[in-house]
Amino acid sequence: METKIFKVTKDSLDILQEASKLLNSGELVAFPTETVYGLGANAFNADACKRIFLAKGRPSDNPLIVHISTPEDAEKIAYTCPLYYELAKAFMPGPLTIILPKKEIIPNEVTAGLDTVAIRCPKNEVANKLIEISGIPIAAPSANSSGKPSPTSAKHVYDDLNGKIPMILDGGDSEFGVESTVITIKDDILTILRPGSVTPKMLEGVSKNVQIASAVKEELKANETALSPGMKYKHYAPRANLYLIDDRYISFIEYVKQKQKTENCGVMCYDEEISLFDNKNLLPVGKKKDIKKQTKKLFNLLRQADDIGVDTVYAHLPSDDGESLAIYNRMIRACAHRVIGGRNGKD
Ligand code: AMP
Ligand code: MG
Repeated sequence: METKIFKVTKDSLDILQEASKLLNSGELVAFPTETVYGLGANAFNADACKRIFLAKGRPSDNPLIVHISTPEDAEKIAYTCPLYYELAKAFMPGPLTIILPKKEIIPNEVTAGLDTVAIRCPKNEVANKLIEISGIPIAAPSANSSGKPSPTSAKHVYDDLNGKIPMILDGGDSEFGVESTVITIKDDILTILRPGSVTPKMLEGVSKNVQIASAVKEELKANETALSPGMKYKHYAPRANLYLIDDRYISFIEYVKQKQKTENCGVMCYDEEISLFDNKNLLPVGKKKDIKKQTKKLFNLLRQADDIGVDTVYAHLPSDDGESLAIYNRMIRACAHRVIGGRNGKD
């Protein structure tokens, strides 16, 4: 199959109409969102959704997020509650996914047999317009091959899915760069299953009861059931072995300089550290305090590590709170919890 790429804005109505036709006829379309690129299918069409799993090589027990263009459209597919609307008022459209009890109309293929459905209303104008024009909810996971870093540009999607899908809408680089925050609601308690750009503190503005599922920071224990099935898979990983260095306990610069003498390694250093290393295989992540920039660059850097062909990559262990929690969660899983030095030490 030929994969066509079209540059789009929300005003590219002809192209969006064509994409909508494909979606309504059961085909897949990759599209930009403010988090990462999504691979969309008609959420009411089980066969179309099965194609997503095939194209990505995604395990069938990992459910999809359903995208809607206005929060009220959740009524068609799920049982809402007042807290859903309070959250929607604060964060929709935006990078927040809310798990709700599902209605019959959503096929089991979308939810991997769960009795809940994940709902998100994207803020990206192309994504939102596409869903609106299509007139159907769009099931869409990240548009990468399963296990690879999520795509934050149309090129990343093309690199992974060329020949497997008919259309990619290119809306430029993703604004945030990590996937949405995923939460469940139980009574008044919000539990974060996956951290994203909507932080725990931001959620506390709506409900005082915000918890973080243990799988966000820690490895799932043997026999432990994942609240969010996606959490049990190794994710985001470059081919090279990634190691995180807890620089509260050992010197990142000294440790990595030593490794550079004997290993073909990439170095994810802060911008301030660039001049301290030989200019070899450096993958600068942004300024130490600029968490937004680091988040935006994260997946592109993990892909770049593969492009430059290094065997190992060394990076700082990110802080596990506030805005940085999303980076910590992705990095700790990309490195399969290999942390050098410090409390998580495995080396
Ligand atoms: P992705 O589409 O690649 O961003 O992954 C979607 C994430 O949402 C995965 O981690 C899924 O496990 C999670 N998810 C989707 N639907 C549900 C659900 N009904 N319950 C819990 N987690 C879900
Ligand atoms: Mg994904």
